[in-house]
Amino acid sequence: MENVITTDIAVIGGGAAGLTAAIEAKKTAPSLNIIIAERLDRTGKKILVTGSGRCNLTNRNISAEDYHGSISYVMDIIKKTQNTEDFFRSLGVLCTADGEGRVYPYSRSAASVLSALRLRLKSLEIPEICGFKAESIEKTKNGYVIKAEDGRIIKTRRIIAACGGYASPANGTDGAALKMIREMGIRTAKICPAVAPLRVDPASVKGLKGVRVHGRVSAVSGDRIIKTEEGEIQFTENSISGICVFDLAYLFSAYEGKLSVNADLMPEFSVKQTEEILKEIKEDRKDCSLEEFLNGLFVRNLAVYIMKKSMKMPLTDPVSGLKDKDLSKIAETIKNLSFKITGCSSWQNAQVTSGGVHASEIDSLLCLKKDKGIYFAGEILDTDGKCGGYNLEWAWSSGMWAGRNCALSLQKLT
Ligand SMILES: Cc1cc2nc3c(=O)[nH]c(=O)nc-3n(C[C@H](O)[C@H](O)[C@H](O)COP(=O)(O)OP(=O)(O)OC[C@H]3O[C@@H](n4cnc5c(N)ncnc54)[C@H](O)[C@@H]3O)c2cc1C
Repeated sequence: MENVITTDIAVIGGGAAGLTAAIEAKKTAPSLNIIIAERLDRTGKKILVTGSGRCNLTNRNISAEDYHGSISYVMDIIKKTQNTEDFFRSLGVLCTADGEGRVYPYSRSAASVLSALRLRLKSLEIPEICGFKAESIEKTKNGYVIKAEDGRIIKTRRIIAACGGYASPANGTDGAALKMIREMGIRTAKICPAVAPLRVDPASVKGLKGVRVHGRVSAVSGDRIIKTEEGEIQFTENSISGICVFDLAYLFSAYEGKLSVNADLMPEFSVKQTEEILKEIKEDRKDCSLEEFLNGLFVRNLAVYIMKKSMKMPLTDPVSGLKDKDLSKIAETIKNLSFKITGCSSWQNAQVTSGGVHASEIDSLLCLKKDKGIYFAGEILDTDGKCGGYNLEWAWSSGMWAGRNCALSLQKLT
């Protein structure tokens, strides 16, 4: 095994951002030597699990509101770089979109996306150095020395750090790279799981494990509604999830201890309309027990949960005993189920990291302000997006932007 590798640009991290950065850097300056250093035994492992193996690689409806974090020029970078679908078309990957603008490879296979990226690396003669876990970066007279855990060394003129965050540690991202970055005196924003389930007190969801229901969820702090999403809500014994909840998770970091999620389980109807529907059902189910009252509206466990939450009387009592004020109470419960958020999910269950290298440390070219030889791309930066292709979009676009600017910075010297 070669112990010292010398190159012009070393990309640390062979994920979506790193692979794209390397391709774009080589396209910009073909004479430069570029390598990818990846800690795992192969590159692109996380790409394979995206979109449940189908890789939701971007979205056709993207705006600044879809991203959070300190970097304010995310959309500028997305607009200044090649359109993601065009980029993949240039690699031989045809894309297709669903009704909500979520873009997938025509093959619906994440493996075909990774394979296309790796084939391009091969044709551009960009080596992938695997099993290389970067542990330290030292500045030298002519550039940098990157030392790996196993003693190998890369000497390079420029670095593109694309080593991700903390989410999904099984795919090489356990936060170790961000620790290395912090040890270099680089400021990072508060770290928290995003695109992840939210934890609740198990007592507050007792009986709901396994329930899936369509609804509208709002993140609430005090009297303030911060954000609202709609979709399928899922329950476990200690958490709520589903894409609509995932998209609220990034708020946990800013509102820790003061965040609730309110669920409206009949968002198409007002409270008044819901009461009217309940009155109709009452007429129809007079002889049933209270336990059976809502069975036509919700799955059994949820129907019983709502009744228990709304009524003091035993659920074995007949529906005929329900008064108008009881129906109002049930309608209120359906329209405003509140869950206090006690925590965020583990990193194993999170798809994305909220927080990372802070905007104040980098310029608009994604280059470290205090050391003009280090660039950043992807999830390592303090940007996270909604569920639906927005995070991979950031990885590809920031990868292209960092790769291009990094290569140009060396070209200017020749
Ligand atoms: C289960 C799951 C499903 C997802 N689905 C989608 C989806 O469908 N659409 C979407 O837009 N987003 C999705 N995401 C999020 C998306 O995958 C990430 O935001 C994106 O992959 C980030 O790319 P990246 O290159 O910045 O980082 P990563 O993909 O995390 O790559 C970082 C790479 O750096 C390597 N590395 C880390 N430390 C070191 C080190 N010290 N030395 C060398 N190498 C190192 C890692 O091994 C890794 O290969 C999903 C995430 C998960 C976990």
